[in-house]
Amino acid sequence: MAKKDPKELPVEEKLKNLYQLQTTLSAIDEKRALRGELPLEVRDLEDELEGLNTRQEKIRSEIDDFQKAITQKKGDIEEAQASLERYNKQLDMVANNREYDTLTKEIEFQTLEVELCNKKIKEAQYKIEERQHDLEETENLIEDRKKALEEKRNELDEIMQETREEEEQLKERTAELETRIEPGLLRSFKRIRKGARNGLGIVYVQRDACGGCFNKIPPQRQLDIKMHKKIIVCEYCGRILIDPELAGIKTEKPADEKPQKRRSTRKKKEEEASE
Ligand SMILES: [Zn+2]
Repeated sequence: MAKKDPKELPVEEKLKNLYQLQTTLSAIDEKRALRGELPLEVRDLEDELEGLNTRQEKIRSEIDDFQKAITQKKGDIEEAQASLERYNKQLDMVANNREYDTLTKEIEFQTLEVELCNKKIKEAQYKIEERQHDLEETENLIEDRKKALEEKRNELDEIMQETREEEEQLKERTAELETRIEPGLLRSFKRIRKGARNGLGIVYVQRDACGGCFNKIPPQRQLDIKMHKKIIVCEYCGRILIDPELAGIKTEKPADEKPQKRRSTRKKKEEEASE
């Protein structure tokens, strides 16, 4: 099957092929964009989970420290109470006032020590309660983020599987379409596409304006575009312009368009014309 040299194709065909190529490439871009955000979301969640796990460990070790402090203070209390018991017994057998004074001072001191230890224990218990509340919150967050991560991972896997297949088909179509476009034109098209933020190298005329940069196209130029005599680019953004009909876009919908809307469009045009 002898293929026609793309150079000899009428401009109309060249534009049609380019537009089809654009549609296919845009579809690939879309698939990539779709997938492009998910890995980032997955990574964000993984980072967040790592942070939450560290926080959880920190809280647990703090609780552990407070519990150790409580045990320590309880030991101190036992010691103080043993001393108190001893001093109280000694108090019954004091020989003189000096001994009595020394013992009472010791008793007073140990009693204060017990009180102080009890105060510290209460404080530590309060801190433990606080930390346990934090711990619960953190654990809930971890649970929540784990679920979200799993969902995102599954979503990504699914999309990867779906898009891989579709992308392969689109790539095949791209390759096929590219053979129908003369190399010089294809190079310019690719260059324009690269420079365009939305990846559009060819756009159709929309409301008398370029469909890429939305600058108005002068009437004569619009006529030239409709004639398909040569390839015309937007004088502002450099994108190749195609008339919507050739691109297979239906702009006028005379059958189902509401008369009200039509009137307003006409009115607008009249206003523009009278300006
Ligand atoms: Zn433009």
